[in-house]
Amino acid sequence: MSRGRYAPSPTGPLHLGNARTALLAWLAARAGGGSFVLRVEDLDGPRVLPGQEARILDELRWLGLDWDEGPDVGGPCGPYRQSERRARYGAALARLRAAGHIYPCFCSRAEIAAASRAPHGIGDEGPRYPGACRGLGASEIAARSARRPPSWRLRVPDGPVPFVDGVHGTCEFDVAAEVGDFVVARADGVPAYQLAVVVDDAAMAIEEVVRGDDLLPSTARQLLLYRALGLAAPRFTHVPLVTGEDGARLAKRHGAVSLGELRQRGADPRAVAGLLASLSGLGSGGPVRPRELVSGFAMTAVPVRAVALRQEVLEGLVR
Ligand SMILES: [Zn+2]
Repeated sequence: MSRGRYAPSPTGPLHLGNARTALLAWLAARAGGGSFVLRVEDLDGPRVLPGQEARILDELRWLGLDWDEGPDVGGPCGPYRQSERRARYGAALARLRAAGHIYPCFCSRAEIAAASRAPHGIGDEGPRYPGACRGLGASEIAARSARRPPSWRLRVPDGPVPFVDGVHGTCEFDVAAEVGDFVVARADGVPAYQLAVVVDDAAMAIEEVVRGDDLLPSTARQLLLYRALGLAAPRFTHVPLVTGEDGARLAKRHGAVSLGELRQRGADPRAVAGLLASLSGLGSGGPVRPRELVSGFAMTAVPVRAVALRQEVLEGLVR
């Protein structure tokens, strides 16, 4: 069995790269005889677009995907919207705090940037956190807390974090050296993506996480959180991104790259699925329904490098 999930954010349109990740996550679960969960990652409140969740779900169904559990169909591991799961993240934070795995940090962004002599970092976390608040005493914490609410950071152990990825093979990231103690809850109380995704994937009993390889570097941080929370980690499979012909990340300037626009312009969902499959080393490139790809599906067919979408192929979808 291979229980899987797809977790879109309703902050923008579902483009072909997202749809291809969703298709591969769905195929991995279905080919393994497992169930499939749809979870909406809507913690970033100000960026959530009204009506976007419903559009994304509708477009995934149009493409030919289905799910056994999700915000629209319910299920035993709900709720399936992160905005409705805040109490669970709070409980996880309380456990981490009680076990001494996290500590309050009072630094501003500017202070961290100034203190970091080699501001390389992994990117999404900014410069490496130098650990300024790691050793604060109880009285200092009380005094600073009275002035401003802290963010919370995980005490990251030294040394590399190895893991085996379904596409990339053996990987390792040295979180302590590259990121440092990272934020698990912001000062305004919003849990960090890393924490929410770990709490949810564990609570939803996900066995294999299939997602875009822009998230490959965050996997090590998540593994540290699984360890700190005493939870079993799933398998991870990071699929390469789909780019435009110019090698840049798919964007509006490449044409009709969102599922919504393709659908509106009369594209055949089977042609779209066929294209997504062919970008993944599956099928012949001709029109296909996702369910026809289940038997014989192997993640090993998926190329390790980013794949470029040829302009004429994209234009052919709406001709
Ligand atoms: Zn600090």
